[in-house]
Amino acid sequence: MIQPTDKVALVTGGSAGIGKAAAWAFARRGDTVVICDRDWSRGEALADDICHEEGQAQFVQADVSREVDVAHLLKTIVDIHGRLDYAFNNAGIEGEMNETADCTLENWNRTIAINLTGVFLCLKEEIPLMLKQGGGAIVNMASVAGQVGFPTLPAYCASKGGVIQLTRAAALEYATRNVRINAVCPAVIQTEMIERITHNDPEVQAQFQHFQPMERAGHPNEVADVLLWLCSDQASFVTGQAIAVDGGYLAR
Ligand code: NAD
Repeated sequence: MIQPTDKVALVTGGSAGIGKAAAWAFARRGDTVVICDRDWSRGEALADDICHEEGQAQFVQADVSREVDVAHLLKTIVDIHGRLDYAFNNAGIEGEMNETADCTLENWNRTIAINLTGVFLCLKEEIPLMLKQGGGAIVNMASVAGQVGFPTLPAYCASKGGVIQLTRAAALEYATRNVRINAVCPAVIQTEMIERITHNDPEVQAQFQHFQPMERAGHPNEVADVLLWLCSDQASFVTGQAIAVDGGYLAR
């Protein structure tokens, strides 16, 4: 039995992968979850599934790189729920894989627009709402690729490094106003993104698993568990952090 709370949580990129695990985690805790994604059919199906399990969920279609979409998303949340307690700015793409000199400007702009500008646009709408209601907690999706370089992913690495610095700057600004802002930095988590990057090749997937000292990929739920903690009173003195969820990757 799910015990409903009075909290409202937003997950961007919530139709698949880590975002989907996050949506289920908020819903199972009893929070009302607003799932945002540009993929309409999977987002609607997920919201239906959560509601069938006695959770509270709804889907709002939005592309986080479009200012007008993000404004509509937050307006919808205010109109329906009147508040937003937690936000997981998770939507992201890997972009194309090429060395820097071969990275097209188009790929650069698209990757930065979704992974970094998308987080910025969400923060701009979420923070005023949280300030107005007296507080909230925001978690931005970064990556270990925001802390160390990965060859052939220059735009992705730059976008995730940008998310970490944006998180720190914003966290300092609102530290005395009860809005906590943190980032999570996963290493390899088994999702469709990793299936695409590895071209579903078992040999390449095995190599990816061995990147982590734990010698396995993470499960999306293992990121969702950290997210739930950051979006709880147990993390009340934690802000401005880039928390690795990486099977020990960054300890090397
Ligand atoms: P995924 O591709 O499985 O799912 C991403 C979801 O985001 C999809 O539902 C997609 O439709 C949605 N999305 C993409 N662009 C969007 C946009 N412009 N607006 C709204 N929704 C959009 O990916 P994932 O592995 O779950 O990754 C989620 C986040 O975690 C990404 O930001 C990614 O960079 C980050 N990350 C993933 C890993 C990993 O190993 N999987 C590691 C570190 C960080």
